[in-house]
Amino acid sequence: MSTSLRAVRGMNDLLPADGPLWSHFEATVRDWLDGYGYREMRTPIVEHTGLFKRAIGEVTDIVEKEMYTFVDELNGESLTLRPEGTASCVRAAIEHNLLFDGGKRLWYSGPMFRHERPQKGRYRQFHQVGVEALGFAGPDLDLEHLLMTARLWKRLGLGEHIRLEINSLGSAESRASHRQKLIAYFEAHQDQLDEDAKRRLHSNPLRILDTKNPAMQALVEAAPRLMDQLDDTALAHFAAVKQGLEDAGIPYRVNPRLVRGLDYYNLTVFEWVTDKLGSQGTVCAGGRYDGLVAQLGGKPAPACGFAMGVERLLVMLSEAGLVPAPDGPDAYVVNVGEAASRFALKAAETLRDGGLKVVLHGGGGSFKSQMKKADASLARFALIIGDDEAAAGQVSLKPLRAEGEQRKLDLPGALAVLKTAN
Ligand code: ATP
Ligand code: MG
Repeated sequence: MSTSLRAVRGMNDLLPADGPLWSHFEATVRDWLDGYGYREMRTPIVEHTGLFKRAIGEVTDIVEKEMYTFVDELNGESLTLRPEGTASCVRAAIEHNLLFDGGKRLWYSGPMFRHERPQKGRYRQFHQVGVEALGFAGPDLDLEHLLMTARLWKRLGLGEHIRLEINSLGSAESRASHRQKLIAYFEAHQDQLDEDAKRRLHSNPLRILDTKNPAMQALVEAAPRLMDQLDDTALAHFAAVKQGLEDAGIPYRVNPRLVRGLDYYNLTVFEWVTDKLGSQGTVCAGGRYDGLVAQLGGKPAPACGFAMGVERLLVMLSEAGLVPAPDGPDAYVVNVGEAASRFALKAAETLRDGGLKVVLHGGGGSFKSQMKKADASLARFALIIGDDEAAAGQVSLKPLRAEGEQRKLDLPGALAVLKTAN
């Protein structure tokens, strides 16, 4: 029996047809981040498992059931494919003492890995663009992140379809007191808890609020609210964030049930959500995590950040028809005959020296079949070379996208035409 080789379930190939969309997105993102003074970082895809356990929290969906963890058989270490980028970014900032002279604005992008049930907008390897501002305390940075994300949606043409939800998780003390109230409340309603909730009741009751189980919605809706436990500092911070959003004209909704799936957050948390992607509606999420740097062994430093799900945004772009048209080369070089093929190589390189995009036909074939390829390549011109042209040091230039005569030119002449015509 022959078995065909396939990619791992939930892990996607990016095919050439997807290229223009990804490139467009990535170029837009780079330019946008540049405009806010963020600098790129790249960290390894694999980290010690302990990093994610410490940063994300033992009793979270990610650490409990979504991580790709394995033992490095050469030395027995437990390693994990990164499920998100903040932990690695903070680990690297501490390891390389990046905060020695003050706060840093950082970003990264790349694949993340979570063992989830694959569906549209939910994969086992997916991509995030993450932004972290390390070493800044004020609500001004929270606001910068909200304003900049709003700008990105607008630039991508998605502004109409994505809306903002915010919440405040307050201080560690507020969460501790809220936690006691939640435990008491859920204990009083034991019979209505599902298995997940029972398990989390004493370890991470806040996460029960994040349940997607419809049967528990009413119970969760009526639970004590963290918002009612916030201290003055947290309230002032949250008020400043809301005021800033109003000043900037960015609509938002306060969602008291927004708790985020990772333990490191405090104060402001937010999600950008859409109705266009079914239950995979969160396209970007983040908030403040003032305790994480110290928790991972660094000198205490406040911080905030967010990550966006690239695939989800790309689905939105393609469903909204916001996919850029594929871009063809300036010229496709057709060549038949041995002398022609030698001259074609030289012609193509000469035109590239002149800054043009040139595809040289490979693999032989008749003029007719090569011209078909030239057309399919979306090239603006076919550059045709037979043995006669080669002997004369000339090429025949034929426009493929516009009306016009085929012309015989030497290489400098062809270069000049290709550079001016469009
Ligand atoms: P969800 O509630 O959808 O599971 P999450 O809270 O686990 O999301 P985060 O850890 O905050 O997600 O990651 C930030 C963003 O990354 C999400 O808002 C989403 O856009 C994207 N994302 C998360 N998990 C996946 C996945 N398995 N496949 C594709 N994108 C994902
Ligand atoms: Mg998740």
